[in-house]
Amino acid sequence: MRTLIKNGTVVTATDRYQGDILVEDEKIAVIGTSLDIQADKVIDAGAKYVLPGGIDVHTHMDMPFGGSKSSDDFETGTRAAAFGGTTTIVDFAIQYRGQTLHHALETWAAKAEGKAVIDYGFHMIITELNDQVEGEMDALVRQGITSFKLFMAYPGVFMLDDGSIFRALLRSGKNGGTICMHAENGGVIDVLVQRALAEGKTAPKYHALTRPARAEAEATHRAIALSEMADVPIYIVHLSAAEALEMVTEARDRGLPAYAETCPQYLFLSYENYEEPDFAGAKYVMSPPLREKAKQDQLWRGLKFNDLQCISTDHCPFCMKEQKELGRNDFSKIPNGAPGVETRMSLVYDGGVRPGRISLNRFVELTSTSPAKIFGLFPRKGTIAPGSDADIVVFDPNRTITLSASTLHMNVDYNPYEGRQVTGATDTVLSRGRPVIEDGKFVGRAGSGSFLKRASRT
Ligand SMILES: [Zn+2]
Repeated sequence: MRTLIKNGTVVTATDRYQGDILVEDEKIAVIGTSLDIQADKVIDAGAKYVLPGGIDVHTHMDMPFGGSKSSDDFETGTRAAAFGGTTTIVDFAIQYRGQTLHHALETWAAKAEGKAVIDYGFHMIITELNDQVEGEMDALVRQGITSFKLFMAYPGVFMLDDGSIFRALLRSGKNGGTICMHAENGGVIDVLVQRALAEGKTAPKYHALTRPARAEAEATHRAIALSEMADVPIYIVHLSAAEALEMVTEARDRGLPAYAETCPQYLFLSYENYEEPDFAGAKYVMSPPLREKAKQDQLWRGLKFNDLQCISTDHCPFCMKEQKELGRNDFSKIPNGAPGVETRMSLVYDGGVRPGRISLNRFVELTSTSPAKIFGLFPRKGTIAPGSDADIVVFDPNRTITLSASTLHMNVDYNPYEGRQVTGATDTVLSRGRPVIEDGKFVGRAGSGSFLKRASRT
């Protein structure tokens, strides 16, 4: 099967040129100008950008939560991802206490198997560390699960103590894995939550008011200090607070391998959303919470100067009906999470590239190339080059769309950006050479996405 993509502007993290791309089966075979090669299918990308498929390294499909689960499974969630120009996700398998890492992997592999329409990998969330689990970490790295997420928040559920975190960091130095951290001081937050509830403060906005930026900054600082003592890299997930970014910037200025991602919600939404009337603030209940609008410029600065390396989504949708509603009388019972996997590329292009906050090349780097490099997928994924997987997005920089739950494809009954107009939209998507989206229509197939065995750092 040969597909020729003609007349487009090819954009990678470093280049931008007019070119044609010949895809042969699953790979990019030839890149040139005015290619005159017989193909089974020709895609005209005139006046459009041809980008490496987006890579979202932070999603939670089909994730159990308090008797319920996140409302997108691996089929609806990856289909929505593809509609938005994302061709790879890295989701999180969760080890619950008393279980092995391998049991968690089997559980999550079964959730994705036969459902995913694009390729996917897994990070492993560790909630209990002992000698046996440390041994399993090594085995998982060999199986292509080369990153582990630890929590400094949610005491009694997910949180690990500093000693366990330090042991995991040391182990990653031996096995070549990468430690990802949810950095918020869970002990402090729990006290603030209990105090607020005791004072009768139950509205959604108290979710944000009980999770101060300093609690994120403190944990970010501690995570970096622990990784410095273990002499290994650290990756901070969903960084939301400018105060936390300062900790990452300071560490990087000292030459430490500290990395961090932020998410579109922290760039385009803010604390004010929690004050929307009639429980609508619950739409934005996620951890860490949305922050002050005035501090968003600092995140953009971090993205521009590479103190932040990736933009992921933390896609974890819960419907307002029957799910978010569980916390109508108690903000601490509102499921944490929001939809985002489909809107990332358009939001960042519209709000980042168009106003000149980041360059077009930097946009590709933040949404595809850099996550591929950090998480062991490059150069198979994350660029357009001969031999790379033909994960390709034809992106129209001039088409304007209105974001709305009624037209987007995520399986959730609201959208945090409802009514927002964005310019820059995905037209056509190939996943390993197979069309998944054509002219805005889904033409893929459940189960055609493959598990990605990712490389370790060493
Ligand atoms: Zn998450």
